[in-house]
Amino acid sequence: MDGPSGSGKSSVSRGVARALGLRYLDTGAMYRAMTWWMLGQGVDLADPAAVAARCGEPVLVSGTDPDGPAIHVDGVDVAGPIRESDVTGSVSAVAAVPEVRVRLVALQREIIGAGDIVVEGRDIGTVVWPEAAVKIYLTASPEARARRRSAEVAGTTAQAHQEAMARRDKLDSTRKTDPLSMAAGAVELDTTPLTLEEVIGEVLRLVKE
Ligand code: C5P
Repeated sequence: MDGPSGSGKSSVSRGVARALGLRYLDTGAMYRAMTWWMLGQGVDLADPAAVAARCGEPVLVSGTDPDGPAIHVDGVDVAGPIRESDVTGSVSAVAAVPEVRVRLVALQREIIGAGDIVVEGRDIGTVVWPEAAVKIYLTASPEARARRRSAEVAGTTAQAHQEAMARRDKLDSTRKTDPLSMAAGAVELDTTPLTLEEVIGEVLRLVKE
């Protein structure tokens, strides 16, 4: 399940995994966890060489339970901190560093290789697991995406989210390594007019086809 931020990937992926009794992996959380660690270490994130030099150090452990996806860095539970605005504002820069991607894609492939799973990200169908049985590219209008995000985060406006998302989308889709794009053979699903239940239903229909 690939797509830009706010397209509904997490809610849809978790709902589909639950309905099918499958594991679930949030690869964005892994990039966020790496970014959280780099910030804590005081690494200069504007310097790709500095990020590349340190990205092998943290021990990242990702859970695969769709009801409570856990993520630990060096034994610390970071599920909360990785959603803070400092991480959100810096993650695209860290994710653009090729050495970071090589390391995290290898970890992701290890987890995926262990058995059936629903995986969400930006490059799952294109790079991480092109042989996936079902590939979906979720989209939604910028307004709908910002509205959903502002409803999730208390005290924030849709306008502020729309600007921040546009910035992150641009960085994610124009980076040189594994940019966000629709995979060959993927089904594009525009979630703008649909409820969460309708999107999950449509994905389940595609899986059963
Ligand atoms: O999905 P989420 O918004 O939490 O992802 C955070 C960031 O991690 C994205 O903006 C992107 O820079 C990066 N990412 C990525 N490849 C993935 C998943 C996320 O580059 N497969």
